[in-house]
Amino acid sequence: MLKPVPTKSRGFSFARPTPPEELYYRIDLGTFSPSPEMSDWISRSFLNEGSPLVNTEHHHLRFAQIGVLWTNAECVSRGRRVLGTAEMCSRSSATTWVGARHQRQIIDWFGYVPDFIMTLDAVCALQCSDAQFCALVEHELYHMGQDRDGFGFPKFRKDGRPAFTIRPHDIEEFVGVVRRYGAGAAGVQPMIDAASFGPEVTEGSIAAVCGTCAPPRRAA
Ligand SMILES: [Zn+2]
Repeated sequence: MLKPVPTKSRGFSFARPTPPEELYYRIDLGTFSPSPEMSDWISRSFLNEGSPLVNTEHHHLRFAQIGVLWTNAECVSRGRRVLGTAEMCSRSSATTWVGARHQRQIIDWFGYVPDFIMTLDAVCALQCSDAQFCALVEHELYHMGQDRDGFGFPKFRKDGRPAFTIRPHDIEEFVGVVRRYGAGAAGVQPMIDAASFGPEVTEGSIAAVCGTCAPPRRAA
């Protein structure tokens, strides 16, 4: 039977990890720092049974290796600041120098080639609340999907591990289209329904996992 990827490190605090101090400020040429603590925290918080924040939609990721990088490099895409990214790594041997150089860099960071790399903006991570940080990390985890066959069933590889893929966003729509034509015509009704039920994750469960800052107080 296929076993989940074991938690590599032990003895880390259950508190939400923070980036190393040298990444607290932006510099012209940003730097990247691998964080085994974050990989460990992600497993404990969102993948392991028994965690208050466990999400069964990420079940396939129990069999994945997820490398995490902090960076103080600024990333802007299509006019928007990017706070996190998820990408898939190729484990097949590189056939070009560019590919070989990329693989060498990944191995130098992590010691192996993970299935996915999550890159997080270190400056933003220091400023956001626990809830905002968890939402950012889970956003990237949702991008780390399991491929489906033509009938919609999850795909597996020959070795029994899930066939991973990068999953796109569920919805991409303009607010103006929803305002003018409504949620049904714009195809965003499931998102409206999800928002109207209120969050499944409570402030208490976030505090139990993060423990670095108190949940924001609501105005009386
Ligand atoms: Zn995204």
